[in-house]
Amino acid sequence: MTAANVTFYERVEDALQDKKLRAALELATTRFVTLRRNAFASLPEADALRDHARTIRAHTLANLDRYLAQFAEAVEANGGHICWAETPEEANRYVVELAKARGVKTVVKSKSMISEELEINHELEAAGVRVVETDLGEYIIQLAHERPSHIIAPVIHKSRQQIADLFREKLRATDADLADVPSMTALARRMLRADFLQADMGISGVNFGVAETGSICLVTNEGNGRLTTTTPRIHVAMMGMERLVPTLEDLGVMLQLLARSATGQKLSVYSNIVTGPRKRGKEAERRGSEENERSANRQSSEPDGPDELHIIILDNGRSKVLGSELAEILYCIRCGACLNICPVYQQIGGHAYGSVYPGPVGAVLTPGLLGVESWSELPHASSLCGACREVCPMRIDIPRMLLKLRADGIKAGKAPAWLKLGLRLYRLAVVRPWLYRLGGQMGRSGMKVLARNGWSKKLPGPLAAWTDYRDFPALAPKSFSQRWREERD
Ligand code: SF4
Repeated sequence: MTAANVTFYERVEDALQDKKLRAALELATTRFVTLRRNAFASLPEADALRDHARTIRAHTLANLDRYLAQFAEAVEANGGHICWAETPEEANRYVVELAKARGVKTVVKSKSMISEELEINHELEAAGVRVVETDLGEYIIQLAHERPSHIIAPVIHKSRQQIADLFREKLRATDADLADVPSMTALARRMLRADFLQADMGISGVNFGVAETGSICLVTNEGNGRLTTTTPRIHVAMMGMERLVPTLEDLGVMLQLLARSATGQKLSVYSNIVTGPRKRGKEAERRGSEENERSANRQSSEPDGPDELHIIILDNGRSKVLGSELAEILYCIRCGACLNICPVYQQIGGHAYGSVYPGPVGAVLTPGLLGVESWSELPHASSLCGACREVCPMRIDIPRMLLKLRADGIKAGKAPAWLKLGLRLYRLAVVRPWLYRLGGQMGRSGMKVLARNGWSKKLPGPLAAWTDYRDFPALAPKSFSQRWREERD
């Protein structure tokens, strides 16, 4: 995960000044919110399904040790390999050493947030391996040397024109290549097809691991995931340790909710279930030398799939979260719905958060995994309106955890100076009713000057930070206790 050199508030300021970014965000998030709403409207049993899914996630995490052991055993029985990685360094070392040992020159990658968390591209490139992102959004991000700004739509912050300019500069696209979206997509597909054919290793994420079968499920809409996991001879799948479901039946529940919440589809276009590497033929098993085995294997085994499957199971702070009051955030299935609905994300987009996981889920997950001391601003990037909890298919109570993290940040001495001063003044006033009343009277008198039609457009001093981007409601002409007294008398 990453923190840029500039502060959170500086990144927010930059985002708010970027008119193109805000226009692109408004268009995309509005569309996602509408698609999701329509998708759930056509599912009468949606509420029961969400309750059931939450129960599955809660049960899985309460028994995670058992399900992880069952999953690993099944993967190995299927011919796959498991790497238990406590830290990003351990995970990256395993992948880089594997690439070196197998003489890998080119890696194709399917979209994976966990690979962003690990920064595996950087590690492989440092070892001389070429890495090509194959999800269209990730491909664009890689060309632009940027980071994804959304969990499921990494390039949500760019307009079509910005992407066309990028293709012209980086891919030498012609006017015909850029005539419309299908032409631009066709250009990217032509460029990527050659990489798929020559890649030695494919890296993917894992949407869900299935404990009973040792299978991994990958959900995509472009087909690049299927090519990444079947064309190269080695497949490396990266999975957070919480991403398990006990059975294939449970997987069916999750898939119904994931696609609807993410893109408003009943089901994603490709739901791949991978169970072990390519199955070896009898002829291959009979042969002795490795070279003969490989050639016989090609002739008599399953027609597609990698020769080797390696699954990295990453902790990176998840065990710590699991044993804390933030454990519920591990129910997340990374649908992105909470980002789309969040009034803060809608304005600032993903890059302003400065972490791999943006939006409401990131505001909990990032400080949870990496410590609130370094990420104390993120829990404040919320109006606590509760919209994230409303749309979350797992009904995760994000606002509760944001409040907990805010309190933790203050305990860790991370409260901004203005907040500390404000709370001191507030405490001073609330224990002295005369002072509280006086403050209220002064506020109401001030509002008479500052507010028009019930709203103030410009507050003085440090309060101006509020009215820089939104109006402030005028205080009620009479306080509650004043009205109470009047009603009673
Ligand atoms: S927290 Fe809920 S809404 Fe947000 S990405 Fe995760 S599952 Fe989706």
